[in-house]
Amino acid sequence: MSATEQSPGTEESARLFRRAAELIPGGVNSPVRAFNSVGGTPRFMVSAQGCRMTDADGATYVDLVSSWGPMILGHAHPAVVEAVRAAASYGLSFGTPTPGEIDLAAEIVDRTPVEQVRLVNSGTEATMSAIRLARGITGRSVIVKFSGCYHGHVDALLADAGSGVATLGLPSGPGVTGAQAADTVVVPYNDLAAVRAVFAERGAEIACVITEAAAGNMGVVPPVEGFNDALRDLCHAHGALLVVDEVMTGFRASAQGWFGCDGVPGDLYTFGKVMSGGLPAAAFGGSVEHMSYLAPAGPVYQAGTLAGNPVAVAAGLTTLRNADADAYATLAANAERIGTMLTAALAKEGVPHTVQYAGTMFSPFFTDSAVTDYAGAKAAETWRHPAFFHALLDHGVYTPPSAFEGWFVSTALDDEAFERIETALAAGARAAATAVRPDGA
Ligand SMILES: *Cc1c(COP(=O)(O)O)cnc(C)c1O
Repeated sequence: MSATEQSPGTEESARLFRRAAELIPGGVNSPVRAFNSVGGTPRFMVSAQGCRMTDADGATYVDLVSSWGPMILGHAHPAVVEAVRAAASYGLSFGTPTPGEIDLAAEIVDRTPVEQVRLVNSGTEATMSAIRLARGITGRSVIVKFSGCYHGHVDALLADAGSGVATLGLPSGPGVTGAQAADTVVVPYNDLAAVRAVFAERGAEIACVITEAAAGNMGVVPPVEGFNDALRDLCHAHGALLVVDEVMTGFRASAQGWFGCDGVPGDLYTFGKVMSGGLPAAAFGGSVEHMSYLAPAGPVYQAGTLAGNPVAVAAGLTTLRNADADAYATLAANAERIGTMLTAALAKEGVPHTVQYAGTMFSPFFTDSAVTDYAGAKAAETWRHPAFFHALLDHGVYTPPSAFEGWFVSTALDDEAFERIETALAAGARAAATAVRPDGA
């Protein structure tokens, strides 16, 4: 079977999806896994090794999603699997402090501007806790976020969120009370004038500005030069905190996350994805002064039965320890190589395109203009994406089933993978070129 003709069918995934849809809303446990915006059957994966995943029908895919970021070393990395096996054999959870938590905290503190971290189970919990902490420290209620930035499914942070909310085109309101939404001010990304105007009007009420260190949930949209720096200055001039969400960029954009790319220190940070090694783990952190507001040291309550779970900690710690300078060099080279192939393939077929990077994260937009905010991302010819996505999938390359998500490479890509990607991108570009614009798009 050649790389271009590997399609054992999708019967088993289709059967599983029908059964899943009876028991799980929409058949998936996170909306970004659904194929709502691209059509067709979500593939049920049964195993993965290195840069490849195998689905329930036996088809293999070169994985350019990497579990939405965490699998930076590729799937089932031997050192990570061994660390998980060893940790599990010592006991799955104790509900007490464990030594490994100190090592993971130290690894995060070493790489980033934070002095202390609290471990949690998901990026959502990290951002939820960070804004509670910011409100507790400042005694203020209002938070400022950017449209198209996604910070997990926290009530106050869902307004105009990217990722699955953007993919499905959902309204911001249902399930979020007026009071929760009223304390959130949403401004366009990369628009400093808008942020200044909010501070001029409500500066004394603002607890924090929360921003993705570099936006990756409306596709990859890096901050314009000086943006994060100016946010920090504005926050500090008004007694507010800058919360830098590095859940996606942390230990991915560079060894130090996006901080390693722009060097702008925020006040509070959130981390997740890569530092989890693929098990449920995330963190938030800041200076000792700020973090000592947290219980039991201080009055702001935050807790978790499984927080700092020893098996998850082993996966995260081993992943970070294996993500050394060589790994980041490989990651950067792999991202660059695929980004270049992507640009060449789309150019060859005359498809409007811009490939944008934030460190080793990147994504294509079907537009010739640079995308700097959510309005720009939505203005691209996203209707070309379903055909593009399915052509890649049919050629054995798994990319995000959404036009509003970044692509995530691993260090595990090999020669066969690059060949397959090149062939698939050529087919994807042809499909994107001949896609038909729907009425009204
Ligand atoms: C993924 C993500 C989150 C949410 O993390 P979960 O672990 O999915 O809850 C928060 N912020 C950013 C920037 C993310 O990319």
